[in-house]
Amino acid sequence: MNKPERHIAPSIDPVKLDRLAEVAIKVGLQLAPGQDLLITAPVAALPLVRRIVEHAYKAGAGLVTPFFSDEEITLSRYRAAPDASFDRAAGWLYEGMAKAFSANTARLAIVGDNPMLLSGEDAAKVARANKANSMAYQPALEKIVNFDVNWNIVAWPGTAWAKLMFPDDGEERAVAKLADAIFAASRVDGTDPIANWTAHNAALRQRTDWLNGQRFHALHFSGPGTDLTVGLADGHEWVGGASTSKNGIVCNPNIPTEEVFTTPHAQRVEGHVRSTKPLSYQGTLIDNIAVRFEQGRIVEATASRGADVLNKVLDTDEGARRLGEVALVPHSSPISKSGLLFYNTLFDENAACHIALGQCYSKCFVDGGKLTPEQVAAQGGNKSFIHIDWMIGSGETDIDGLRSDGSRVPVFRKGEWA
Ligand code: ZN
Ligand code: ZN
Repeated sequence: MNKPERHIAPSIDPVKLDRLAEVAIKVGLQLAPGQDLLITAPVAALPLVRRIVEHAYKAGAGLVTPFFSDEEITLSRYRAAPDASFDRAAGWLYEGMAKAFSANTARLAIVGDNPMLLSGEDAAKVARANKANSMAYQPALEKIVNFDVNWNIVAWPGTAWAKLMFPDDGEERAVAKLADAIFAASRVDGTDPIANWTAHNAALRQRTDWLNGQRFHALHFSGPGTDLTVGLADGHEWVGGASTSKNGIVCNPNIPTEEVFTTPHAQRVEGHVRSTKPLSYQGTLIDNIAVRFEQGRIVEATASRGADVLNKVLDTDEGARRLGEVALVPHSSPISKSGLLFYNTLFDENAACHIALGQCYSKCFVDGGKLTPEQVAAQGGNKSFIHIDWMIGSGETDIDGLRSDGSRVPVFRKGEWA
């Protein structure tokens, strides 16, 4: 760095921040020369956005367009807007995004807001606003979940988020700790992050190759409070790490990422399961989730905290009660070993095995890019306006792979690959 870093909090290492920006463009997106880029970010993340934009143009970006949000502006809607506001969403904006993705614009999202931002607001208004937003976002979201274009999410150490994770520290110290945790989890704290990511992607590829060779019919999870059989969709494919988008670009959608995941069969999930970490869902903490599945559908759901929000989420649509993802993460993953609860799915889902309610990824099918939505559904893929991951793995999780002939293969023992 040869310029004074006037806009960066003194507690955030500018060299590592720049590496994160470089990794977002070169590993996360692998932005192609001439390709346009759409960025969404909290306004507080401006120092990271500026670095990302610089790396994007150096990589040959056509046009970079950032959109900013702000915690205070989000809150003022809940405090002052008329009731009818909560059924509104910026459909015009999402239609524009969908148009941009159709024209091969890459997508980068920066997260960093206070995960508890809306926890003090009216739960019914939060649910209405979320639903209106999810419905309006659907045309753009479909292009992302179907990997029409290369996309990526990275994190910025927001102050309120840092204080939530490190309540006993002053603001500056808390931000420094969160920044370090983000840099470590995102594998940008070494001297050659690009090479680190190449090695990491190769290791994840070994796991997905093995699982794809096994062609399991179902996985059986057992652990405290959990006895769950998750049928796998017909023609499912395990993916993890780098993914090839339909535009031919290999991207790493999530930074960090430790998971390998596939599509469960929406009609073939049986038994009960308990969450092993709290779920932070759009400003509400939902803890100790316990649900029971019959023929793929959640027929009973409880939580020690946030149960009302959970049950509203489950009523979003028919697919909200069924699974769209099952993911395997060893208990010894770096994020799990950090012992930190991030209250953010991008990080916490990489600390434990998890399942997701709602929409499946068509990518997680053999030749998924060529399947129509009707074919995805016929093979057992779920459809919903939501996609919410929650953690079910721990150091006590055992997983068996079940073959169609009834034989079992150990996959995980005590939270680790068997
Ligand atoms: Zn996942
Ligand atoms: Zn997910």
